[in-house]
Amino acid sequence: MSDPLIRGWCPGALRPMAAGDGLVVRVRPRMGRLSRAQAHGLGDAALAHGNGVIEMTSRANLQIRGVSEAALPALQADLRAVDLLDDTPEAEARRNIVLNPFRNVTRDAWFRDHEAMAQGLARGLATAGMPRLPGKFGFVVDADVRIRYLAGVSGDIRIESAWDDLIVRADGAELGRRVADEGAAVALALDIARWFAASGGIGADGRGRMHRHLAGGARLPDGLAGDTAPNPPAQPVHPGYYGGGLCVGAAFGQLPAHRLGWLVDRAQRGLFVTPFRMVHLCLPVGAAEIRAAGDLITASQDPMRRVFACTGAPGCPQALSATRNVATALARTLPAGKVLHVSGCAKGCAHPGPADITLTATAPYRFSLIRHGRAGDAPARHGVTTAQLFMSPDLMTEST
Ligand code: SF4
Repeated sequence: MSDPLIRGWCPGALRPMAAGDGLVVRVRPRMGRLSRAQAHGLGDAALAHGNGVIEMTSRANLQIRGVSEAALPALQADLRAVDLLDDTPEAEARRNIVLNPFRNVTRDAWFRDHEAMAQGLARGLATAGMPRLPGKFGFVVDADVRIRYLAGVSGDIRIESAWDDLIVRADGAELGRRVADEGAAVALALDIARWFAASGGIGADGRGRMHRHLAGGARLPDGLAGDTAPNPPAQPVHPGYYGGGLCVGAAFGQLPAHRLGWLVDRAQRGLFVTPFRMVHLCLPVGAAEIRAAGDLITASQDPMRRVFACTGAPGCPQALSATRNVATALARTLPAGKVLHVSGCAKGCAHPGPADITLTATAPYRFSLIRHGRAGDAPARHGVTTAQLFMSPDLMTEST
């Protein structure tokens, strides 16, 4: 099995990434929010220029796939018309900030001013003296005084709460530093980013992550380190109600493009993109209609919530097999409570952590079967075919 290719950058709308099924165009909604016009415009653009599906990513972005080089200018024009395009690829890449998507349901005192902090970070990152950070380096703003919903979301510098206190924490450090207010949080987060670059956190290849830098022995200076633990992490977020808003998912995080505008029309206070591969409808109306849609996931018990599969073949050039059709078929026989991950190669993009059962492709419709592990881990069985899996679903149980 050849080693999977690791890319050190993420696609954008101005700098799309080539894939086996055309260009991948990633849109980063500002503040993780889509207005009514933006949701309709993005959905229509995906239908006109892409493959008709909008992928929800684990960094609260939205992706259009299957875009041809010829269609790209028209797609970008459509995105610009609804203010979903930055001026330059650099500006787009810098806006790598994930915000707590539940902050706007009640607008009450539980939440710090996330918008002000995100705007402050964006302004600071755009200043001339700021070092160029790695493509995947990102910020998380998760300052709910009760709990941390974004504890499992990838990020290098985190602005969080410790009950009534606001703290800033370098990812990988257990404790953060208390700050007086939102402005001080932004200033400290930017100082930590400068320290990261100045202390050798960025490799010769331009890559680098904070947790790896700290694990490698780098030590935050006293002025940037703290002694305060963040709030406890929340349970994983599932489809359903959160604080009066409704989280809605779709199989494999792939939202039919026509549903984006349809959903925003059913949210009184807007649609937020979450890093949980779901959208959050702020004060929804017509929940019964949404549940009856058929192509959306609104219940945490839906077995498709426990099935993960990457793009696979033919969309990903590294894929050794198709994946999503296999995962969809196997979902029907998946033992209750078990998590299944079908991966097109050992990289395991769709589910980086361990799963109860992982099938890693080694050839078209042939997989290594791994129990309680990741896509690149040692398999319990080699060369399992889809025919064997479909005819003997007990292959996925412990006893076989
Ligand atoms: S895990 Fe899937 S999407 Fe990721 S590189 Fe491998 S085949 Fe491609």
